[in-house]
Amino acid sequence: MTAKGDILIVGAGLSGAVVARELAEAGHGVRVIDQRPHVAGNCHTERDRETGVLVHVYGPHIFHTDHAEVWDYANRFERFRPFKNQVKARVGDRIYSLPINLLTINQFFGKALRPDEARAFVEAQADHAIIDPITLEDQALRFVGPALYEAFFKGYTQKQWGCEPRDLPASVLKRLPLRFDYNDDYYTHRFQGMPEGGYTSMVSRILNHPGISLSLNTAFEPALAANARHVFWSGALDGWFGHDLGHLGYRSLRFERFTHRGDWQGCAVMNYCDADVPYTRVTEHKHFAPWEDHSDSVLYREYACAHRPGDIPFYPVRQVADKALLARYVDRARNEKGVTFLGRLGTYRYLDMDVTIREALDTARQYLRSGTAHADMPAFTISPL
Ligand code: UDP
Repeated sequence: MTAKGDILIVGAGLSGAVVARELAEAGHGVRVIDQRPHVAGNCHTERDRETGVLVHVYGPHIFHTDHAEVWDYANRFERFRPFKNQVKARVGDRIYSLPINLLTINQFFGKALRPDEARAFVEAQADHAIIDPITLEDQALRFVGPALYEAFFKGYTQKQWGCEPRDLPASVLKRLPLRFDYNDDYYTHRFQGMPEGGYTSMVSRILNHPGISLSLNTAFEPALAANARHVFWSGALDGWFGHDLGHLGYRSLRFERFTHRGDWQGCAVMNYCDADVPYTRVTEHKHFAPWEDHSDSVLYREYACAHRPGDIPFYPVRQVADKALLARYVDRARNEKGVTFLGRLGTYRYLDMDVTIREALDTARQYLRSGTAHADMPAFTISPL
């Protein structure tokens, strides 16, 4: 039971934990429930029993942000170690540097170009007839041309999204830089790192406050909400409505675990870009914690797959049909009283961890500012549309 007047937070991932902490520190009683047996949602980490390696159970999570406040917030709850994401890619029987940079271009074309030469070389391959790329395919053809597109993006994207790159928005690829120097950092953010004890340790500490009661293995029931002063819902937006208008589309992931004596691939993440390799990438978890020393290794082959009811949702698809359905759910949500939707699932958006924390802090503060007029708290503090 939720004590009368408590705030109910559904989901003990980053969003739920941060809102819970802010409200508890302001003196509110907060109940957090999660249907899974652990906190931290999809950034959950745990020690592998066989190898002792800290595993990113739902796939790699690397913390990167330009927000000093968010960085300080995360560091308040867990010591962060320096970590830069440097991904490698396998195409055919060769290994390349990612994101596409001067080394990749020189490796791929067997050249020794300097930055301005490489820029001109790639520009000459780009399709200049595409003025304003709408699709992922057009975005790639406009900026890197057909050869690099076919090698690095086409097969990987087909596997990752289960559709053709011409059916995806350009925004998916805009997350990746194209560089004409030898910088191979995946991210360029001011603050980057890895929590020393893992994300689950960090989220557990965020939730560790006398004003917060946490119930794991606890599914949401309407009776819990009826008792609550306000509900913060970080579950799937359509889940709040019992999916009665249909399911918003997600991609799901499946991980195939294997172990190895020693070092299997020499880096944390290796993308497999060819369409005929069924997995998208292989993650060697011990390389996410280079300050630790492990003789054994545990790895995940990562397969992207369609999301069926009951699977864990990972990536919101957000294609045209999903967006139309999303608009209908958003309309309904705006008419609900006493509930605020937030986070990756609650707003049906691809969210980096730092943005998730930023939005959760803003949401909690908006609630606190609303004083006793909690009924004025909107369904969304950020529009999902
Ligand atoms: N991508 C690709 N080849 C790669 C890496 C990424 O085609 O080797 C495309 C793919 O469509 C992917 C998108 O770029 O969904 C964004 O990549 P990112 O690394 O940001 O994906 P995430 O880490 O979020 O899965």
